[in-house]
Amino acid sequence: LQRPASALKEMLENSLDAGATQIIVTVKDGGKALLQIQDNGHGIRKDDLPILCQRHTTSKLREFEDLLGIQTLGFRGEALASISFVARLSVTTMTEGAVHGWRASYTDGVLEAPGPRPTAANRGTLISVEDLFWNVPLRKKALKGVGEEYRHILDVMGRYAVYKAGVSLTCKRQGEARSDLHTLAGASRLDCIRCVWPGGWLGGCTVCVCVCVCVCVELGWLAVGVGGVGRRASR
Ligand code: ADP
Ligand code: MG
Repeated sequence: LQRPASALKEMLENSLDAGATQIIVTVKDGGKALLQIQDNGHGIRKDDLPILCQRHTTSKLREFEDLLGIQTLGFRGEALASISFVARLSVTTMTEGAVHGWRASYTDGVLEAPGPRPTAANRGTLISVEDLFWNVPLRKKALKGVGEEYRHILDVMGRYAVYKAGVSLTCKRQGEARSDLHTLAGASRLDCIRCVWPGGWLGGCTVCVCVCVCVCVELGWLAVGVGGVGRRASR
């Protein structure tokens, strides 16, 4: 893990692997203070919570042969473990049909006592990562400013929004009503590109218009020139 955006990438992939159609990311101080990701995926079973952040623990491989046809974005069981070693990680999750959810916190890959507590929740998973690199001062110091770290986060979000067009992705700063990135569920890839790079799209159109104008002007001059030559020839 190098920066908040790399932790976010891992968690985004987990939400997508969980079949989420809506993912909301909330960020505080460029992800240094808080990185929260909420999805409406299949959730995590209570029995899996004690080992959730242990290294090499994954639910994505059941048999050896699964390695031959990997369909998920992750399968090594490293990400949550790595994050729990350098941040305060908590999870609230609820599976389909459950009457309530569970909340659990982790340190250094280990579930904190007294274990998962029942809580109200929606189907899916909410993971909060607080104080990233609190125990790795050098890494923390190497992070860039809030604005630049947030730009990295938006960059990752934008790329996944286009890659997984149709899944609704939202990214906002904590306390802000307005989101900085929002794509709609069921949106086409073109719509997602327009949404993620509105400037780029506008820029592209501007270039097209300029090229068209230049071509027309050139053709106009050509027509005038040809007309002039024609008139001189007829005289
Ligand atoms: P990997 O993705 O390689 O399996 P991770 O450390 O990223 O490893 O995640 C460990 C496990 O935690 C996953 O295999 C999955 O079972 C569970 N998990 C993590 N995030 C989610 C999520 N958002 N929804 C459902 N399950 C999750
Ligand atoms: Mg993963």
